[in-house]
Amino acid sequence: MSTAIGIDLGTTFSVVAYLENGKARVIPSSEGGNLIPSVVAFIDGGFQLTGKLARAQAAANPIRTIASIKRWMGSDKKIEIEGKTYTPQEISGFILRKVKREAEAYIGEKVEKAVITVPAYFNDNQRQATMDAAIFARLDVMRIINEPTAASLAYGLHEKDLQHILVWDLGGGTFDVSILELGQGVFEVKAVNGDTHLGGDDWDQKIMDYAAEEYVKIHKIDIREDRIALQRLKEASERAKRELSQKPLTNIRIPFIDQGRDLEISLTREKFEELSCDLLEKMVTPSKQALKDANLTAKNIDRVILVGGSTRMPAVQQLARELFEMEPYKDINPDEVVAVGAAIQAGVLTGEVNHITLVDITPLSLGIETMGGIFTRIIGRNTPVPTTCGQIFTTAQDNQTQVDIYILQGERALAADNVSLGKFNLDNIPIARRGEPQIEVAFHIDANGILQVSAFDLHTENQKSININSSKRLSRGQINKMLEEAERYAADDEKRKEHIQIGICAEGMIASAQVVMEENLEILDKFQIDEIEKAILKVKAALAQGKSEEMKLEMDELRKIIEIVCSEIRDKKEKRKKMAHSKIGVLK
Ligand code: ADP
Ligand code: MG
Repeated sequence: MSTAIGIDLGTTFSVVAYLENGKARVIPSSEGGNLIPSVVAFIDGGFQLTGKLARAQAAANPIRTIASIKRWMGSDKKIEIEGKTYTPQEISGFILRKVKREAEAYIGEKVEKAVITVPAYFNDNQRQATMDAAIFARLDVMRIINEPTAASLAYGLHEKDLQHILVWDLGGGTFDVSILELGQGVFEVKAVNGDTHLGGDDWDQKIMDYAAEEYVKIHKIDIREDRIALQRLKEASERAKRELSQKPLTNIRIPFIDQGRDLEISLTREKFEELSCDLLEKMVTPSKQALKDANLTAKNIDRVILVGGSTRMPAVQQLARELFEMEPYKDINPDEVVAVGAAIQAGVLTGEVNHITLVDITPLSLGIETMGGIFTRIIGRNTPVPTTCGQIFTTAQDNQTQVDIYILQGERALAADNVSLGKFNLDNIPIARRGEPQIEVAFHIDANGILQVSAFDLHTENQKSININSSKRLSRGQINKMLEEAERYAADDEKRKEHIQIGICAEGMIASAQVVMEENLEILDKFQIDEIEKAILKVKAALAQGKSEEMKLEMDELRKIIEIVCSEIRDKKEKRKKMAHSKIGVLK
């Protein structure tokens, strides 16, 4: 049996860990350190570099160096290098291949299986792309798990009797806030929030701008305009930033940055914090929103876990203390903690570790569009996954032989206000009256968070299904915006939905009234037919005017008339039956 590894496939760095005698161990890179830069580069002669070497030559070869590919996972972005195009999956695949090689060299065994982590907010498309990347690297993905969940596992919190864990992950380019609920060894993600464009890179940028502007003051030249100088400035700024996490003062020195001149500037932690205070400020709102979404306040949080290299900055730790009024967990290296958790999860799946179950949730409701453009929820927001939910639907028209299944994600009452994830149709439905066919629409979300939708005709047993691959990318920002809008328009949406439903109801009633007439033509007298027709016309008129109140009134009238007529029809039929019986006589 080969060893299973846990991989944190990060935006800036990737980390790999495995279980050694039941204990998680981070695998050191053959190039030094435990972090493998998520960087891929192409060099002369068609060679390709990954990791530290790729990162080291980035300054000299910026055009053929690819960093932060994770941002593009699940999109249709193409990366073109010297006439060859690569997908984000392929580039990530190169990184995973490197990670796998490093693991095999260290463990001294073949590695085939892996648990890979993704941000809690990755949608189906992004998760699928991550699985595709693993295929390129010939890795068998045992499970895709959320990064915050992995971090909680690493701290062994599943063994404690805690309720709520808040995970703050500030990496190279992204900020994620997740609130997990833990009870009896089961993790459930209660809320997720964050900022897809906030991370260590932004703090680097502050130092870069400061240094470059200081240089302009002295030499009247902006070194940022030269691509290679810019890359060197970035590296020096990042180093300075890291140093300021340890010391109150650092010196930035870049020799021969322009025309043989050196850049030399000193920077205090205090000045750095002043330069970047707006970035720190940006961490507050998503944190509060996550608490609000989970229906909690800071007082309900039992543990705060710091994840991501950027949480090493003292100002970030201080902010965590102030916001959550407690000392955050940061004992496990924040840039390794996710990989450690992934390795534990790999152990759970191979059976090496027992008694842990992971439960994740859907961030937004999923459902389909039904008659009148109404959004019908199949899986509610915050439902733990994996999950399967189904509902029976029927046709809207007589003799309808196919139905379109529009799959949507969102919280609004009307389909048009939600995000479309894809569509397909089920055909060959046998000819029938509206309302007769029974079509079961089922949504299945697997443990990796990937959605499959199927439609099943209960009469013919015809079935069709799709995996949602073409779903639109939903950023955290978009999700938050949708949730806000759903709240803001809730009352309005409800009214619009009710209005549409009354309309649907009215159409249904007109259709059944017509059926009653058609089926009983020889029983009904002219007066009754007239009465029904008039009532139908009134409902139609109200429907045309679109006035809900009038529709309701006229529908009531029509219903009363139909009820009376139906009971008269029953009486007549009874009488006829009796007459028929008395004529025929009874045989012995
Ligand atoms: P990701 O998950 O985005 O791949 P990491 O969690 O590894 O990234 O975080 C990388 C970021 O952490 C980089 O921006 C790096 O500069 C920053 N970082 C690492 N160590 C420190 C430190 N000691 N002080 C400040 N920032 C740090
Ligand atoms: Mg990370």
